Amino acid sequence: MKIAAIKGFNDILPEQAAVWRHIESVFHRVLGAWGYGEIRLPLLEYTELFARSIGGETDIVEKEMYTFSDRSGRSLTLRPEGTASMVRAWVQHTLGAPAEVGKFRYVGPMFRYERPQKGRYRQFYQLGAEVFGDESFYQDAEMLIMLARFFHEVGVEGTKLHLNSLGCQACRPHYRDELQHFLADRVDRLCDDCRRRVPQNPLRALDCKQPACREVVAVAPRILDYLDAPCREHFAGVTRLLTAAGVEYEIDQFMVRGLDYYSRTTFEFLAGELGAQNAVGAGGRYDNLVAELGGRETPAIGFAVGMERLAMLVATAAGAPPTEGGVALTALGAPAIERLFPLQQELCAAGIRALLNYREKSLKSLLKKADRDGVRYVLIVGDQELEREEATLRDMSTGEQRTVLLTEVVPTMRRMIHGRQDN
Ligand code: ATP
Ligand code: MG
Repeated sequence: MKIAAIKGFNDILPEQAAVWRHIESVFHRVLGAWGYGEIRLPLLEYTELFARSIGGETDIVEKEMYTFSDRSGRSLTLRPEGTASMVRAWVQHTLGAPAEVGKFRYVGPMFRYERPQKGRYRQFYQLGAEVFGDESFYQDAEMLIMLARFFHEVGVEGTKLHLNSLGCQACRPHYRDELQHFLADRVDRLCDDCRRRVPQNPLRALDCKQPACREVVAVAPRILDYLDAPCREHFAGVTRLLTAAGVEYEIDQFMVRGLDYYSRTTFEFLAGELGAQNAVGAGGRYDNLVAELGGRETPAIGFAVGMERLAMLVATAAGAPPTEGGVALTALGAPAIERLFPLQQELCAAGIRALLNYREKSLKSLLKKADRDGVRYVLIVGDQELEREEATLRDMSTGEQRTVLLTEVVPTMRRMIHGRQDN
């Protein structure tokens, strides 16, 4: 019986992995330039960490977590997102002195028990970043400008930035009460989830996707009308800096995000080409979470971009990743294979992609394979060439052919591929 992968868990095949690698390298370069250091966090955490940070009335905690007991009976959860772990690490290592700013970036898999469909999987990858210790609106603007830059450099244009502010602990309760009253008068028109959440967490209804809820919410009180003066100023600062930097945005007062820990600025980058799962990245400020998880009061902000969704956009964008290049050593017959085997090792050691057939095949099928492998050069050695210690070198892009001595293959390839003299 064949064993298949778990539903919603994907194999990333080489062609796709090349796109991912391209995205990751641009991500690390761009965020490195903006001063974000890389962090690698564990995939498993105590369940309590997510329950406390993400919030009890969220979809993630209520129905999407992969939770199980380990052999000693402790409840563990495969991380559904990166922020909780990052905050846990920040508090645990008290990374940085009190007044210091810490900036981190990460890439890795997340796990959510959702209904698998295009752009929505049970294991998916996020490229994320978090900043601790800076409450200024400059920090919010920096992150958004940097993200816009990242999308541009990775070759994705036309994402739309949606922006909102959720206020703070001082002003949000007023809004929450108003919204709660408004929704309580209309509970019979809400979906089951929203109805249940109105008493504890009425804001959840704002981004409910059910048409009936959307209709109710469309005329609900608007959060920006309830911001206090400091929150209004903060939001105005962010939008002013974005405008000055030429980053376009749209204010979306229904965007509250699916996690409870956000405050003030929240944002999403949307891409129409993605269809129903159109959010390619999202994030926001979470000024209270560090203290709630036992750290000292520390303002913070972060985002996460979905790798699979971004890769779909990159793959459809112009300038797909370059072919792999290198050389196919095309050995016709056993003696030629034997002779080219050590040459392959020398080429690989020199950092040149070198492929060699270990089984005897016809020239025609080897050339076809070389074409599929996307090599730049083909080096052909048959019995006659072998006798003369020579090879025929063909440039696949021009069709030009020349003869090289076998002893000259490595320096010749180095020169042609790396563009430098061998010494
Ligand atoms: P959505 O509204 O699509 O469910 P979300 O608000 O749950 O997204 P976040 O928790 O903010 O998403 O995660 C940030 C990004 O991670 C999303 O914008 C999306 O690109 C990606 N993402 C989230 N869940 C999944 C998933 N199940 N499969 C693939 N990508 C995902
Ligand atoms: Mg979700």
